[in-house]
Amino acid sequence: MAFDIDMIKKVYAQYDERINAARQIVNKPLTLSEKILYAHLWDGNATEAYERGKSYVDFAPDRVAMQDATAQMALLQFMQAGRAKAAVPSTVHCDHLIQARDGAEQDLTRAKQESSEVFNFLSSVSNKYGIGFWKPGAGIIHQVVLENYAFPGGMMIGTDSHTVNAGGLGMVAIGVGGADACDVMAGLPWELKFPKLIGVKLTGKLSGWAAPKDVILKVAGILTVKGGTGAIVEYFGEGAESLSCTGKGTICNMGAEIGATTSTFGYDESMERYLRATDRADVADAANAIKQHLTADAEVYANPEQYFDQLIEINLSELEPSLNGPFTPDLYTPISRMREEAGKNGWPTKVEWGLIGSCTNSSYEDLSRAASIARQAIEKGLVTKAEFGINPGSEQVRFTADRDGLLKNFEDLNATIFTNACGPCIGMWDRAGADKQEKNTIVHSFNRNFAKRADGNPNTYAFVTSPEMVAAIAISGDLGFNPLTDTLTNKDGEQVKLDPPTGDELPTKGFAVDDPGYQAPAEDGSNVVVEVSPTSDRLQLLEPFAPWEGTDLKGLKLLIKAKGKCTTDHISMAGPWLKYRGHLDNISNNMLIGAVNYFNEKTDNVKNQLTGEYGAVPATQRDYKAQGIGSIVVGDENYGEGSSREHAAMEPRHLGVRAVLVKSFARIHETNLKKQGMLGLTFDNKEDYDKIQENDTIDIIGLTEFAPNKPLTLVLHHEDGSSEEILANHTYNQQQIEWFKAGGALNIIRAGQAS
Ligand code: SF4
Repeated sequence: MAFDIDMIKKVYAQYDERINAARQIVNKPLTLSEKILYAHLWDGNATEAYERGKSYVDFAPDRVAMQDATAQMALLQFMQAGRAKAAVPSTVHCDHLIQARDGAEQDLTRAKQESSEVFNFLSSVSNKYGIGFWKPGAGIIHQVVLENYAFPGGMMIGTDSHTVNAGGLGMVAIGVGGADACDVMAGLPWELKFPKLIGVKLTGKLSGWAAPKDVILKVAGILTVKGGTGAIVEYFGEGAESLSCTGKGTICNMGAEIGATTSTFGYDESMERYLRATDRADVADAANAIKQHLTADAEVYANPEQYFDQLIEINLSELEPSLNGPFTPDLYTPISRMREEAGKNGWPTKVEWGLIGSCTNSSYEDLSRAASIARQAIEKGLVTKAEFGINPGSEQVRFTADRDGLLKNFEDLNATIFTNACGPCIGMWDRAGADKQEKNTIVHSFNRNFAKRADGNPNTYAFVTSPEMVAAIAISGDLGFNPLTDTLTNKDGEQVKLDPPTGDELPTKGFAVDDPGYQAPAEDGSNVVVEVSPTSDRLQLLEPFAPWEGTDLKGLKLLIKAKGKCTTDHISMAGPWLKYRGHLDNISNNMLIGAVNYFNEKTDNVKNQLTGEYGAVPATQRDYKAQGIGSIVVGDENYGEGSSREHAAMEPRHLGVRAVLVKSFARIHETNLKKQGMLGLTFDNKEDYDKIQENDTIDIIGLTEFAPNKPLTLVLHHEDGSSEEILANHTYNQQQIEWFKAGGALNIIRAGQAS
């Protein structure tokens, strides 16, 4: 689907020289991850050996992928960059905004009506700027990317945390915020802290009920939800080569659940088979020609403990099917222990729903293995106890699975086939009765199972497992059912046993599709008009932020002194606010509503210094803005941790906050503030946080000589007439100071395009 073989060949043409340069500089054999990273340095050949976990490095990703919820702000920003086309091949995928309820056809029709404005916007902006557009119903972003765009040795960023799925085809693919996607599409480098490396050596071979999902469920159990933070997980070994390409995708996908930067596998025959089956023989041929660069050096795999920061070994032959959950994806329970654990912990064992799908497990192989269990249930006279829902990963998977009778196997169990979309995985599931908030259990093949994630019910106990185990457990209706050992009673009262799943890695008759749902962009988009209604409440074109006025900032009112944890969720809440992600003014009504006010310990309740009244944070700030008065936000440690969402920086900027002064920043949020032209400052002396009083008016002095490593002075004017000075540090480099002066990085990019 318009994948760019020329781009891929260009990347591969540089590999030899770049890898050799890196090997000389690093002076030791290279892991696959290092090869891909060093081959994508923004400045070309390596000139220094980067320190893992320390060095910040500029990269040149090959591709950008965006999903419909996050693409809105990414593209609204990109429109401001003044470019005629995206600088690298990019795609948009409409998959998050389709609710599962009645079945694919009705649900898709309803979603197209409800979100037509957003879909039309994404379609026209893609058309204009040379971006491939995948329509609603075309599939889930990561499955579509794997089928069409991922390639061994490539580097991709995507505005979704499960972008990492493309590691299944040997990429370094990383989830980012919309601002990063905007930068790369605008032709700027992308910065990343050089990751640490975790090696996972896979020995043996899966058999019986064990599936690739069980590999990552086991890894999650070992590393926990934080264990992969700041690291790339690199899988290797004979066991890795025995896995299918989409199975590798499943494993990489859930690397997001252990906090890993990304995960990847070396190029092998399973990837070659997948590339050829998905109509990309030329990519396979090109990859074969540089094969030696698409895995780690042999010495690395021979002595992995010397080259990885951490090493894990898993024998696939011993792997038991398992379920992780409830409420967290790292709570690992092998199926043989589930009945006991459920009893001990009070987990409801009656299973109400079995859901198969999500970007983690919606490939043809996944459906075929689960369908083999569904067929047995019919043949053996079993009556399904739980309800079944299936979301195929893409139209290509759905069409092929339909042709091959797999969907019919599920329908014979009264399954509902939902749209090729995220659906219940992102909480877009109108589950009957969920509002009663009854305690219940569901099993699914997704990746996340936090409270309320699928159906909004905090009392739904969700367990993550493989598609074939979802099928078996849903048929039995019993969380403790172990298909390896247990029997079920069929409608004739006989005891029957399910045989292990069988399935096809790839369809024997090949993939087929009628209309994949792809819209190619216009060759010349200059005449395409992107329409956004001025009365829309979901979309709003962005106006450039005003440049710095050239003076010190005086008379800033303290908006809030936030106490304790203040994550991007506290600054820009998700949930019901998701639908305003494309409308900066509307979503700004959630600005800092989750932050705790130091002075009264309440959320969304601060003093308006102009009126003396207490009110909501956004309303108070809007009052300051209306009066032309700037303000300052004060925060505690690690301010802005959590997601990379740029809204947390854009909202205060939009509403007229001029500076954020904290004890320490989460780095991505600090960078986001800088990109939006905000001042992000840290207390030189953290105890000065205590000097900030509720009625303070604050001056920021030294901006006319704003320079790297030169602290600024803040004058605190207290209500009693006294004042005191404190020092504030910053980490702006010269380029970032220019962003501040221009009113934001995009203003600089636009000026560059115009000149
Ligand atoms: Fe995210 Fe789930 Fe959609 Fe995957 S299927 S992209 S995890 S919402």
